[in-house]
Amino acid sequence: MARMRAMVLQAPGQPLVPVERALPDPGPGEVRVRVMACGVCRTDLHLVDGEVEGRLPVVPGHEVVGRIDALGPGVTDLAPGQRVGIPWLGGTCGTCRFCRDGAENLCDAPAFTGCHRDGGYATHALADARFVLPLDDDLDDIGTAPLLCAGLIGWRALKAAGDARVLGLYGFGAAAHLVAQVARAEGRTVLAFTRPGDVAAQRFARQLGCAFAAGADEAPPEPMDAAILFAPAGELVPTALAHVRKGGRVVCGGIHMSDIPGFPYRLLWGERRVESVANLTRADGREFLAVAARLGLRAHAHARPLAEANEALDDLRQGRVTGALVLVP
Ligand SMILES: [Zn+2]
Ligand SMILES: [Zn+2]
Repeated sequence: MARMRAMVLQAPGQPLVPVERALPDPGPGEVRVRVMACGVCRTDLHLVDGEVEGRLPVVPGHEVVGRIDALGPGVTDLAPGQRVGIPWLGGTCGTCRFCRDGAENLCDAPAFTGCHRDGGYATHALADARFVLPLDDDLDDIGTAPLLCAGLIGWRALKAAGDARVLGLYGFGAAAHLVAQVARAEGRTVLAFTRPGDVAAQRFARQLGCAFAAGADEAPPEPMDAAILFAPAGELVPTALAHVRKGGRVVCGGIHMSDIPGFPYRLLWGERRVESVANLTRADGREFLAVAARLGLRAHAHARPLAEANEALDDLRQGRVTGALVLVP
């Protein structure tokens, strides 16, 4: 009988455990995907560290690029061998007010990949066929995987930032390095803020066309129209607010953040706004992948074998990653 391998989270705070199990057959409406690459997202780290809750045990991983190797009953619009992506939004209820209102990213009963259903830290993954995103056949797996979450949530955050001409990015990791490329292509001025002293990330940001790169404790050279926060550090909210102009926006792009400290009202005064972006809709996915294809957008990704998932997560935890990390089975 055919087998698959996966790295499994059994309990928060514990390393992922390698397991081998029988290859599952796709159920009605599902596809089975042979995983070619799966990005390592900060959300995976939050799950492993118990800061975000999901089902247990679970196979993490929601930046999956693979090829369909089996169709479940009733799936007619996808084909075996087709390259697809499996994003974070792995299913929705379809009936709550948010699903009905075209805001399925806010669904009351979502099934997130690698959180409520098994994800891509594996050789194979099952997915609801309605939620997989078709990908062009000529993409490279490793450079594309981080687009499936870092790129997508970055895209949603960029849209929330409006038409900001001068855009600040706090936390220059997987999402920011993709947003920076899109924002530069759109002609925006991008300012990058990293952990203080992270010269490697600052150099990387400048290479990608950022006009300014410095520690998050430093002031921008000019007031910003908007800032996007990818770093999970709540103290950056008042920091960013202090540096956006009147009417400016501060968009929080992470699923988890440390507490936001109190701050004087004058930082918010002047119609400044603080908001978050959560998850993605399938429409976001299709829209962003079209933009990415037009721009030839690729992640600067470092590949590691699937068996080294724990080491990869630790690299992310310690801030030792420039660009994005991808696991290859
Ligand atoms: Zn719903
Ligand atoms: Zn993610």
